[in-house]
Amino acid sequence: MSNIRHALSVKRADDFAQWYQEVISAADLAEDSGVRGCMVIKPWGYGIWERIQRLLDQRIKDTGHDNAYFPLFIPLSNFEREAEHVEGFAKEMAVVTHHRLIAGPDGGLIPDPEAKLEEPLVVRPTSETIIGDAMARWVQSWRDLPLKLNQWANVVRWEMRTRMFLRTSEFLWQEGHTAHETAEDAKEHTMRMLEVYRACAEEDLALPVIAGEKPENERFPGAVETWSIEAMMQDGKALQAGTSHYLGTNFAQASGIRYQDREGTQQLCHTTSWGVSTRMIGGVVMTHGDDDGLRVPPAIAPWQVVILPMLRDKPEDAALIGYCSELKAAIGAQSALNEPVRVLLDTKPGKAAAKRWDWVRKGAPIIIEVGGRDMENGVVSLLRRDRLWDAATGKSAFETPTREAAGEGIGAMLEQIQTALLDEARARRDANITRGVETTEQLANFYNSGERFPGWVEVQWARPTGAALDKVVEFLKEHKLTIRNVPRGGNAADGTCIFTGEPAVERILVARAY
Ligand code: AMP
Repeated sequence: MSNIRHALSVKRADDFAQWYQEVISAADLAEDSGVRGCMVIKPWGYGIWERIQRLLDQRIKDTGHDNAYFPLFIPLSNFEREAEHVEGFAKEMAVVTHHRLIAGPDGGLIPDPEAKLEEPLVVRPTSETIIGDAMARWVQSWRDLPLKLNQWANVVRWEMRTRMFLRTSEFLWQEGHTAHETAEDAKEHTMRMLEVYRACAEEDLALPVIAGEKPENERFPGAVETWSIEAMMQDGKALQAGTSHYLGTNFAQASGIRYQDREGTQQLCHTTSWGVSTRMIGGVVMTHGDDDGLRVPPAIAPWQVVILPMLRDKPEDAALIGYCSELKAAIGAQSALNEPVRVLLDTKPGKAAAKRWDWVRKGAPIIIEVGGRDMENGVVSLLRRDRLWDAATGKSAFETPTREAAGEGIGAMLEQIQTALLDEARARRDANITRGVETTEQLANFYNSGERFPGWVEVQWARPTGAALDKVVEFLKEHKLTIRNVPRGGNAADGTCIFTGEPAVERILVARAY
C-alpha cells in the first residue's frame, strides 16, 4: 500500500462519477448555476476552453474556412423543411413564443397573450437550417464553391440527463458548415475535418482517439454519413469527442442551396457540418485527471508554469520576488509547442503549501516553489504535475535544478509532459480494447462479469441495416452497450458477424458510453 496522502477525498477506483464531480470543483473549472443543465464556467475552466478554441480555430482557418456569426433564434419553419432533422431535435428544443411580459392575476409576471410571436423561434440546437438560408443567398455559381464557414457559439439542447461539460443543456462549441459542387468533394471534406479533430484531440489535448464512421442508428438527424472521434475515459467508457457529417443534398434541398454548374445547369450543393464542444474539457478531466485533481496538457494549460515564492510578510520578501521575477523572465523567453511559455508569478497572499496544492488540483503542468534557502543556494524546487509523487518515499517528487537550468530547460520539459500524457492515455486505451469476442453471449458475459472498468470490445459484423440493425441495437441496449464507430482504415474482417452469423464485412467498437 502506498503511504501517499492524495489531495482529493474520493479516488477514481472507488467512485469514478463522484471523483469526476470533485475534480470539477477542486480544479475550479465550473459550478452549478441553479438553472437545470447549465453551468457557470469559472476562469480556469474557461481559460482551458480559450486555449482549445485558439488552437482549433487556427486549424480550421488553415483548412480554408472563415468565421461568421448567425442568429441564436431560428424560425421553427426552418426546421420543418427537413423532416428527419426536425424529428431528431424536436424532443430537446427550447422555444421562444412571446416577446413581452405583463402582470398576471397572482401578481407575478406572465407572457402577454397580445405579444405572442406569429411564429415560434427555436433557440438554436445546431445551425444547419439558418446557415443553409444564408448559403442559398450567397451561392449562385460553381465559382462560389466550395463555401467554407465556421461559427463559434453557444447552443441549447434540452438534455434529460446532464453532467458538467460532458452533457449540458447549453454548451459552447464550434460548428463548421460547407457547401460543395460534388458528393466526392463534400465527402472528402467531411474526412478532412474528421482528421483535423483527430489531430487537435491528440496533439493539443493529448486525447488518443479512434476516428471512424457511426452506424446508421447513430447518424446526425438529416445526415447521410456521420463520422466521429471516440476517446476512452479512465473508467473504460467511451466519449464521443467530435463529429463530422456528410449531409448529401438533404439540407441543400431544404434551404434551396443551388448553383449553376459549368454547363449552365442548376444543381443542388452537397453540404457538410462538423462540431466539437466544451464536452472536450470533460474528456480531458476523465482522461488525465488523477487522485490529486486535474492534469492539464501543456498545450491547453492557461498557465503552463506557476512560480510560488514562499513569502513570509517580511522585508526579505522583496529580494525573493526579485529572484523569482528573473526566473519568470527567463522562462517567458523560452518557447514550447511553438509558442512562448505561459508563466505566472503567483504572489497572492496565503501559505505556500496551500497555494501549491491549489495549483496541483488545478493541474498546472509545472509548479516551481522558491524559498529563502533556495535563493541562497541559487536553486528552485520544481514539481512536475504528471509525476507528482516519489513512489519510494511517498513524498512530493521535487527536483532542485539551479535557477538557470530551470529557466533553460522548461520548454523541453513541457513538451515531454505533453507527450507523456498522450503516451500514458494511449497505452491505457490500447490495453483496454478486447478482441476475439465471437458470440453475443461472450459479449454479454464480458460486460456482466462484474469487472469495474471493462473497456471496449472490437467485434466483427456484417453491417446490418434497417430492422436487422434495430435488433442489434436493442440487444446492445439491454446490456447498456452502444456501437461507437467503425474505425476507418485497416479494418478488414476475416470472420463471421457476431449478431447475424453472416460473413463479416468490417470490425466495430462496442462500449459503454457517456
Ligand atoms: P452534433 O451536432 O450532434 O454532431 O454534435 C457535435 C458535438 O457536440 C458532439 O460530437 C459532441 O461532442 C458535442 N455535444 C453534443 N451534445 C452535447 C451536449 N449536450 N453537451 C456537450 N456537448 C455536446
